[in-house]
Amino acid sequence: MSNYFKNVVGQSRSTKILASHLDSRLISHAYLFLGREGVGKEYLAKEFARYIICGNKGEDDCPSCVRFKKGIHPDFIFIDGFDGIKIDQIREVVERINLTPSVSKKKVLLISGAENIGIEAANALLKTLEEPPADSVILITSRSEKRLPETIVSRTQVIKLNDIPKNEIEKALLYSYPKEEIESVLSISGGSMGECIRLLTDKKYRLKQEEIRNDVISFLKNNSVLDRFKIVEKYEKNKSIKTFFSFLTDRVLGSLISDYGESTEFSEKDLKSISASRKKIIAEKILKNYRNLDYNINLRIILEEMILEDSLNG
Ligand SMILES: [Zn+2]
Repeated sequence: MSNYFKNVVGQSRSTKILASHLDSRLISHAYLFLGREGVGKEYLAKEFARYIICGNKGEDDCPSCVRFKKGIHPDFIFIDGFDGIKIDQIREVVERINLTPSVSKKKVLLISGAENIGIEAANALLKTLEEPPADSVILITSRSEKRLPETIVSRTQVIKLNDIPKNEIEKALLYSYPKEEIESVLSISGGSMGECIRLLTDKKYRLKQEEIRNDVISFLKNNSVLDRFKIVEKYEKNKSIKTFFSFLTDRVLGSLISDYGESTEFSEKDLKSISASRKKIIAEKILKNYRNLDYNINLRIILEEMILEDSLNG
């Protein structure tokens, strides 16, 4: 039995699949890791990359893995898509991935946060996925397949990450934090280990998240057009409307439509009082704009349209 992924929490289905690919050496050219924010997509993808490049059975201290963990392995190429992914970035890494590996048998490109990829960059990436260079593996992480062109999704092997059950998060965190503190952040963590740790260690961030959560609930429940407009305006003014919108899409959408997974902290209690027509309007608006959710889109207008359409309905 190999020793892969022993530090990955709560993703036994995905890790079993990936371990079987490693064991059989039948590794696909491209993988897409899907799951909610903070659920551990990037960590899992990086561990997978490390094992592909290393070629060992998951030992942690071989020279290849040591270099990888230091972030200096020449056969690993990484794009952090947090601030968007531009076509020039894709062009550059595609050039690099086309070269033969320097020290390993394979080169791995990881594109993290691909939900922020622009259309041009996506097309450039698609070309590489259509004709993948030999000896290379491309790993992509995204919060949702709906945020990527279907042509990209269809050329990858999809690995879906679960929301980690809350008791598993708690169990893992109990080594480092007191129980009461863990319990107080679990309900705003969105079933995400990374988010939990951030909430536990960064008090300012935690207060901010609690505030956004309350505003999102108010935006969902409130029946006054003016009050709802005020919430949108507040986030427009302090330039964090993208954060507000992401919260709405990543944490709430699951409760509005069924094919997006169910467990969110908003699920039953908070969302019960929202009318079916409002749920429908919000879900449709989000989904319609999901694939184009780059930095040029006017989120304020989308949110205000939700409010207005709903008020015409009611
Ligand atoms: Zn190794």
